[in-house]
Order: sequence, then structure tokens, then C-alpha cells
Amino acid sequence: MYADRILKHVESAYPQQVEFRQAVAEMLHALSPLLRKEPKYEKYAILERLVEPDRQVFFKVVWADDKGKVQVNRGWRVQFNNALGPYKGGLRFHPSANASIIKFLGFEQIFKNALTTLNIGGAKGGSDFDPKGKSEAEIMRFCQAYMDELHRYIGALKDVPAGDIGVGAREIGYLFGRYKKLVDGFEGALTGKNLDWGGSLVRKEATGYGAVYFAQEMLGARKEGLEGKVCSVSGSGNVAIYTIEKLWQVGAIPVTVSDSKGMIYDKEGINLDLLKEIKEVRKGRIEDYAKNKKSAIYTPTKDYKAGTNGVWGVPCFAAFPSATQNELSELDAKTLLQNGCKCVVEGANMPSTAEAVQAFLKAKICYGPSKAANAGGVAVSGLEMAQNASLHTWSFEVVDQKLHTIMQDIFTNSSQTAAEFKDPTNLVLGANIAGFRKVAQAMIDQGY
Ligand code: GLU
Repeated sequence: MYADRILKHVESAYPQQVEFRQAVAEMLHALSPLLRKEPKYEKYAILERLVEPDRQVFFKVVWADDKGKVQVNRGWRVQFNNALGPYKGGLRFHPSANASIIKFLGFEQIFKNALTTLNIGGAKGGSDFDPKGKSEAEIMRFCQAYMDELHRYIGALKDVPAGDIGVGAREIGYLFGRYKKLVDGFEGALTGKNLDWGGSLVRKEATGYGAVYFAQEMLGARKEGLEGKVCSVSGSGNVAIYTIEKLWQVGAIPVTVSDSKGMIYDKEGINLDLLKEIKEVRKGRIEDYAKNKKSAIYTPTKDYKAGTNGVWGVPCFAAFPSATQNELSELDAKTLLQNGCKCVVEGANMPSTAEAVQAFLKAKICYGPSKAANAGGVAVSGLEMAQNASLHTWSFEVVDQKLHTIMQDIFTNSSQTAAEFKDPTNLVLGANIAGFRKVAQAMIDQGY
């Protein structure tokens, strides 16, 4: 079969790229019923063309630390597909970043961006630079050195990077400042900018708010809701913080957060002001949360049961994995289900392992895969591009309303597509087919 042939090719061509192969395998599996019905995709070699990025740039980034020592990091930008619009996707600065992780993120981004209903293609980039423990000046110098190379490949109508793990408004500021000097022009070649110089309201909140809007749509279709419900959230970055903010706003009770060192369980619910103070102002670790709040229990990662993430051991109605890829194992999925979890919404990219995804689908709970559920972030990036292009600034209410409508549309599109293929609760199938059909048709229309 067509999908199997392509998967075999990817496995033998990229044996080391574990995460990339995982993302491709999930996608091809979900597309099988469509590919059986529609021979045109094979005729136009759409899968062969989609699994190879249009262009990949791999470069070194040389900068000097505060002691004057010269440091070298690796940088990537993978431009996957621009059938629907300029390449678009974040930059991840994290020591674990490698060619496989950046490629899986870029591949996912093609279909996620297609689902947003906006005209944006898919890309991703990053570096193995670790911003943790670096001074402000070191971060600025690194961002400037990174942009010295990246500026050649990006532009408002060409490729528009944004943030991801380790890249927030501060880093985007330094990247933008250097870009502006190098190209001698002020243009929206990056999103996630600060509000006074071209950023959009709601961009910071967008991924978290969007994930909760998506949860409400999934639950609403089953005549359920989040009010009064205990929710578990992993991570403590931008996605986690604004998932927690929106959960409180809709009357739910978020009880957990985590970072790479450990997790917090607060039975009274996570105090949002304290969390923001620790993470956004002090840029500290969540261990400090327990030092400031009596009801909070801190568990270090080394005390987690083998093969599990402690966050998923806390009984909850809904789980919001918002940290990173493969942070939720099959064992975690089984524990969540045994404890009565009815809803899993992925704020991070591909946080559930392939086996965990199968467990959720088998149990037929509300499962929102990342491609659909975390598209709110890039959707508001698309709205930022629209505001930059028209020189307009929209109010918080206007952008939030547009985000809400986009998340509703993504749910409707994914669930109607799943129903069309006689598997109505399977949003993995629905989201993948809906995103793919749009991109593939654009590719066919535009020729090869
Ligand atoms: N990094 C985010 C994502 O995974 C946002 C990308 C963007 O805004 O371009 O979708």
C-alpha cells in the first residue's frame, strides 16, 4: 500500500530520526482510509513530496559568553512546505534540539497551520543553545549571532519564525532587532513581538487559551463541560501558564504544574499570580512554588515511578500535557484512564507516545491531538501577520474572539472529517485528513 511504502522509505532513509519517524507514522496511519479512496495523491506523489522538506538550513552559531570565551552552537531552519502561504513556525532553543526534533516539529506544523483556516505554510527552526542560566547580555549576543545567519532565509512573505520552547518575547525582540538592521527595513518577519512594536494582543495567551477552547468544544459535543472539574497540567512555560489562566476563567480547578526538575500538586488549585511571579518575573524553578504555598507538594523527577511522569499520577477529569514531546507514556495513559480521566488536550507538540495515543483512542475519551488542539498559538501568529500587513492593531476582545472561532472551526472540521470516515470520535484521523487534504489539493493545483 502507498502509505506503507512511504513509511518504509522514511524508516530506511532516516533511521536515526526517531521523533520525525514517529510523526510521519502517525500521519500516514491516520491517512490510510483517505489514500485507499483517492488514487490522485499517489498519482501526484504527494506523500513523497511531503516527507522531504523544501529546504533545510543547518548552520553554526558563534558567540562570546560574559567571560569572553567563544562558544559554538548548532542552528537549524527547516522550511517544509509553502503550498498554503509563507513558511511559518517557531524556533526552539533547547539543549535537546536536533535534526530529528526540528524536522518532526516542522512536519506537524504543515498540517496544524492548514487547520487554522489561515494562509500559512509549515516550517520550524531552533538551536541546541540552552538559555537557562545565561545572562541577559549572553542571550542577546546569541540571538544576534543566530540572526546573522537566519536573516538570509526569512521575510514577511517568505518565512516567518516565532517562539517555541526557550524562545519568548525577549528572544524575539533581540532576533527582530538584528533582523531589522541586517535587512535595513521594518517588516513583520517574526511573530510573537512585543505589543508596542508590532506584536498582537492575545499572542502570549493564545496556545493555552486555544487548548481550553478546544477542550470545551470536544466536551460540549458530549454534553459535558469543565466547570468544577479537576484538571492536571504539565509544564510551566507559556502554554501551561495560560492554559491554567483560562481553566480558572471557565470554572475548572487546575492542580498541577511541572518542570524538568519536578512537579507541584496543589490540591487547592494552582495560584496563578504566584506561578506568574516565579516563572515570568523571577524566571525561577517551580520548586519555589512549594516554598511559598503551604498546600503544595513538590515531587522531584527522580522520585517518579519508573517510566512515568508524576503529573499523570494525579487523578483528574481532564489532562493538558503542555511541556514537550513524548512526556506522556503508555503507562501514564493507562493510569489516567484508570483514575477516570475523560479528556486529554495536547498543548505541547506530540506529548503522547504512539502507544499512549492508541490507549486514548481505544478508550474513546475526548482526545485532542496537538495538531488540532495547540493550533491557537500559530493561529494568532497568523493574525499578527495580518495586522502587520494592514498596519492595524486589533483589541484583545477582537483577537480573542477570532481565536475562539478558529478553535471551534478546527474542532468542527476535524470531527466532521472523522465522521465522514466512520470513526466519529477519532480526531487524530479527522485532524490529519482535514489538514492533509487542504495542503495536498494546493500542491496539485500548483503543479510540481
Ligand atoms: N511554536 C508554536 C507552535 O508549535 C507557534 C508557532 C508560530 O507561532 O509560528 O505552533
